[in-house]
Amino acid sequence: MADSLHTRYMAASDTWRAHRKGCEPCQTKQPCETGAPLLERFVRLQDAYLTHLRNRP
Ligand SMILES: [Zn+2]
Repeated sequence: MADSLHTRYMAASDTWRAHRKGCEPCQTKQPCETGAPLLERFVRLQDAYLTHLRNRP
């Protein structure tokens, strides 16, 4: 489970960063229509992953 969550987190991070790199609105102001869901997914998975790390025995 941890691996798959981490994998999805990394994939979302890569996708968002790759988009932002070539997208001016996403770098400088509000995320664009394409970038917003990518950012949202990245933030959600990051939260889930960090929560998972915190709760690990
Ligand atoms: Zn964008």
